[in-house]
Amino acid sequence: GGGGCSGSSAENVKVVVRCRPMNEQETSDGNTRVVEMDVPRGVVEVRSAKALATDPPKAFTFDAVYDWNSKQEELYDETFRPLIDSVLMGFNGTIFAYGQTGTGKTYTMEGLPDVPEQRGVIPNSFHHIFSHIARSTNQQFLIRASYLEIYQEEIRDLLVKEHKKKHLELKERPDTGVYVKDLQQFVCKSITEIQHVMHVGNQNRAVGATNMNVHSSTIFLQNLSEEVDVSGQRNPSDFLLSHRMEKGERLKEATKINLSLSALGNVISALVDGKSSHIPYRDSKLTRLLQDSLGGNSKTIMVANIGPASFNCDETLTTLRYASRAK
Ligand code: ADP
Repeated sequence: GGGGCSGSSAENVKVVVRCRPMNEQETSDGNTRVVEMDVPRGVVEVRSAKALATDPPKAFTFDAVYDWNSKQEELYDETFRPLIDSVLMGFNGTIFAYGQTGTGKTYTMEGLPDVPEQRGVIPNSFHHIFSHIARSTNQQFLIRASYLEIYQEEIRDLLVKEHKKKHLELKERPDTGVYVKDLQQFVCKSITEIQHVMHVGNQNRAVGATNMNVHSSTIFLQNLSEEVDVSGQRNPSDFLLSHRMEKGERLKEATKINLSLSALGNVISALVDGKSSHIPYRDSKLTRLLQDSLGGNSKTIMVANIGPASFNCDETLTTLRYASRAK
């Protein structure tokens, strides 16, 4: 980037891949590692167990790749810290994790919030934001948090008790854009408070065999001491952390990817492409909701999580293909 305030969509959307270590079960089941990563070049290679020795591996290039030795702190400092710095300056920021169950989305996004070196992106960003606020003696910020779930294209508020029964509606207003009607927002004055809100939401998440769902927590950061922005766009900034977006397990609907996820793939690739005049935001609840958080004055990072083992090879390739559409 040229250091200016705006950039092309391609600069504002980054896709990184993280591969978790092989686990004991996979090793004792006789799996081999089919994933190779060239960290300096940002390349992932997958060599299918079924492929002939002479077949070249399938290779994909991303903005960054993180292998099984990568540390939480390294991921945060290199990839996410700059995004949160932009959010603190008034940009919108969106973070996604995508991948099959068991590949490390929760570890990457949450980790162990109480162990500093095991903290994932969400608690690291809370520490980052609140320490910035504590150091800003001449500025005042207001932080509000919400947490929702999109499950089979129905939106539910994870911060209210009767969330299972009630489906929320998407609405649109000319001044504020797309919003979720009646979604609760809680003001958070400290890390403890915001972690409590996350915890309550986590408890309410749907657990299903196929887990074809999206969880999205939004942090609204409002700089109270900032002049009113004439464009009306940059205050407050939305910082959206979304994760656990996973396609179905290898059940009947093995190839049927959740509507919101395929729509998101289409939107991101249209944005990155930069040539499309039509961005298909209206195709799903998720993309409508993200309409104002993607594109424009906003930065997005998608982490694609994969596993290294041979038994997962096909799923790994599916995830990498999905992620590389966004490049
Ligand atoms: P998901 O949320 O995608 O279903 P999890 O985050 O629960 O997956 O990860 C599955 C298991 O793998 C967990 O036990 C987790 O601690 C472990 N794991 C995931 N990523 C890593 C990593 N980078 N390093 C070490 N362990 C990991």
